[in-house]
Amino acid sequence: MDVALACAWLRATAGAVTAEADRLTRLDAAIGDGDHGVNLTRGFAAVISGLDGTPPATVAEVLVKAGSTLISKVGGASGPLYGSALRALGKALPSGTTVTPEELLTGLHAGLDAVRALGGAAPGDKTIVDAYAPALEAFAAAVAAGSGLAQATAAAARAAEEGAAATTAMTARKGRASYLGERSVGHQDPGATSTALIFRALAGVAEG
Ligand code: ADP
Ligand code: MG
Repeated sequence: MDVALACAWLRATAGAVTAEADRLTRLDAAIGDGDHGVNLTRGFAAVISGLDGTPPATVAEVLVKAGSTLISKVGGASGPLYGSALRALGKALPSGTTVTPEELLTGLHAGLDAVRALGGAAPGDKTIVDAYAPALEAFAAAVAAGSGLAQATAAAARAAEEGAAATTAMTARKGRASYLGERSVGHQDPGATSTALIFRALAGVAEG
């Protein structure tokens, strides 16, 4: 991954969350407060305008800057969670203009650790973690098998989508949806859904 690809990932994510904003908002209206699509559309639009000036020189800086923007621009739970993940991902990368799949794996690991440290969610709690953890696992397995970035990110995106779908059957134990308890069953988690969009965006740009 180079600086241009990192920027392309963020732009593709902004496009995806904007295109899917209504669906994310509907999912959040069912088990939360109906602002997830709006939160992410606003947050990633700010990330993109941050890139429009002088683009950062390293992949790490691109991602740290994007994370800081999300933290400052998004009021909901997802802003600090995704913001912390991107900041941790960036901070875990070597400073340079390109990053190998192995280095990206280390960074993605740090990103998930940041989400779990901040939000305290475990797998099965019906959150972002339920898409992110399987995506990371699939990415790690692909990298270990010698796959390049395109194949590894495609595997991660598929796993994130399966993970997001699996949240439908879960009872929410973190975030606003946890107030509903068992009544959250039968609805797909909005945050896990947006996590799948983010990994799908990465696979899309990595494919070229
Ligand atoms: P808010 O809940 O503040 O309105 P959003 O609607 O933007 O924020 O995001 C809701 C999503 O955030 C949920 O669907 C869930 O995936 C995720 N989320 C909430 N709390 C946590 C947490 N503690 N850990 C991980 N993810 C969480
Ligand atoms: Mg919400």
